Amino acid sequence: MIRILDKNTADKIAAGEVVDRPVSIVKELVENSIDAGASSVIVEIKNGGKTYIRVTDDGSGIDSSEVEKAFMRHATSKIINADDLDHIETLGFRGEALASIAAVSRVELITKTKEEKAGTKLEISGGLVTGKTGIGCADGTTVVVRDLFYNTPARLKFMKSDAAESGLITDLVQHIALCFPSLKVRMINNGNILFSTQGRGDRLNTIMTLTSRKTAESLIPVSAESEDISVEGYVSGPGESRATRRGQIFFVNGRSVKSKVIEKAVSSAYKERLFEGRHPVAYIFLSIKPSLVDVNVHPNKREVKFHDDRSVEQFISNAVAEALAEKSAVPELRPRERAVAEPKSSNAGASEGRKSPFSSKNTASASSPDGDFGFEEQVDIKNILSTFKKEAETAREDVETFRSYRESRPESEGPFDFRELDYRGVIFGTYILATDDDYLYFLDQHAAHERVNFEKLRNQFNSAEKHKQQIMIPLTVSAGFREENWIGPLSEMGFDIEEFGPDTYAVRAIPLFMDISEAEIFVNDYLDSISDDTDFESRDVVLSIASKACRASVKAHDTLKDEEIRGLINDLAACDNPYSCPHGRPTFIRIGKYDIERRFKRK
Ligand code: ADP
Ligand code: MG
Repeated sequence: MIRILDKNTADKIAAGEVVDRPVSIVKELVENSIDAGASSVIVEIKNGGKTYIRVTDDGSGIDSSEVEKAFMRHATSKIINADDLDHIETLGFRGEALASIAAVSRVELITKTKEEKAGTKLEISGGLVTGKTGIGCADGTTVVVRDLFYNTPARLKFMKSDAAESGLITDLVQHIALCFPSLKVRMINNGNILFSTQGRGDRLNTIMTLTSRKTAESLIPVSAESEDISVEGYVSGPGESRATRRGQIFFVNGRSVKSKVIEKAVSSAYKERLFEGRHPVAYIFLSIKPSLVDVNVHPNKREVKFHDDRSVEQFISNAVAEALAEKSAVPELRPRERAVAEPKSSNAGASEGRKSPFSSKNTASASSPDGDFGFEEQVDIKNILSTFKKEAETAREDVETFRSYRESRPESEGPFDFRELDYRGVIFGTYILATDDDYLYFLDQHAAHERVNFEKLRNQFNSAEKHKQQIMIPLTVSAGFREENWIGPLSEMGFDIEEFGPDTYAVRAIPLFMDISEAEIFVNDYLDSISDDTDFESRDVVLSIASKACRASVKAHDTLKDEEIRGLINDLAACDNPYSCPHGRPTFIRIGKYDIERRFKRK
């Protein structure tokens, strides 16, 4: 028998389309706040939003006479008829969200327009109005959504853990904050303020409140433009990295998207600048001619498809690589302004350095009650405001100090140039000191040497011309492999190797730039790293073995003479990537004159 579903059932089914999990509710509510012209939005959730979601804004409010209407299906103030669909300027317009949310939860709406003397409180459960009263409240709207899916238990099963749901919501709210930098956005999870943006309208400032202070300090601006595509944004300096890509946030034409192409572009720009398996933090805002991209229009899918992946990847990768060659990308040691208690447990936050007092790590773990720095401890909702006030004092101080630091240096200092460095000596037998007008640099002699040797070796390996030197007394090495295919790559690097006896080989010539002790360690390490299964046909495999052997061999050098050090600096300057060793350790770091002066209380 075919039946027409009753309204209640039909509403519940329709609701599932708009509201499938807590994050979609938060999205609808915040979009309504933005549509209502809010300048400030507070999102608060508990238990991943399953039991409690509250969105408060200071927008237009809803007149008492219209509050019930707002919850009716196809009730919207945003369009009047189909003609309006062609020029929609609001985020919502279907008039479905509130109706859908109210059908599957217990909703409380508190709202007041500027014109009204008092506000209105409306309560709805499972789509039915259960109460309407007057209430004293500020201009704007608060929507509280409790017990999501209490009347559709089947849907409850589709929800992930609290941490996973709150993670999705935190990500969403961050993306909204980045999209609307003039909007003040505060995110509270289980009573902890996760972040609170200032709504000052600039991106850097917003990012600063979303990320850890250490990351924020390392951010390097990215900016490039061509005819059809332009990119703006910030990436973390190579001194900062994460174990996952969660710190990578991409926008294409103003929409937050996921994109393997952009991920790849960012990674390739950082090649050899980070340890394997580490990822930079990146905020990439791409603008591309709409005809060159398809952004999936489904509101909950965030995929993007470029018509020409390769050129987009190349463009972004070049822009990021250029940013990383800026002076500002040299990892910087920054003294901490105030003494801060070290985290007790060694949870993830510890390795991320100190957090911005306004913020916390963007992961669900931020909701852990034993927050690292005391900023995130459990607080009663009633106490949030007073706690926040206290925190705001210190936080403002911190943000101000940090801002004055960021403002003390130009956005772009220009590409790093070794010719501007003055060599000052060596300390601890390992670190070369150099200065320019604004910084003191520490070069790690071994990391630098490793980089230099590796690039020389790679150049030799890749070119037909081999610069080598015969050695008077051949080095003998032992190697008991079935095949001798391991010799080929070494001769391409500039070694002459012959069989000498059973399992014994003589090295008669070595690359010109190596000395004998380096060459000996290099060849032995190379032999230790290979087996009969090594794929010597793969240049990547061979270069990775060589880079490891370079690392071992440079340990041979301890004390360098002044002119050797100058030679090393010049050699490093000639490298393709002078900033890190082949394994991602920095070759040099710096301390700002600014920070030294602050320490001496001169600033
Ligand atoms: P839509 O956003 O598609 O119009 P909704 O169901 O989300 O549909 O909202 C219905 C109506 O309720 C909106 O058109 C708007 O008039 C009103 N409304 C909802 N949220 C707010 C808010 N935060 N501030 C002011 N008005 C709101
Ligand atoms: Mg809406």
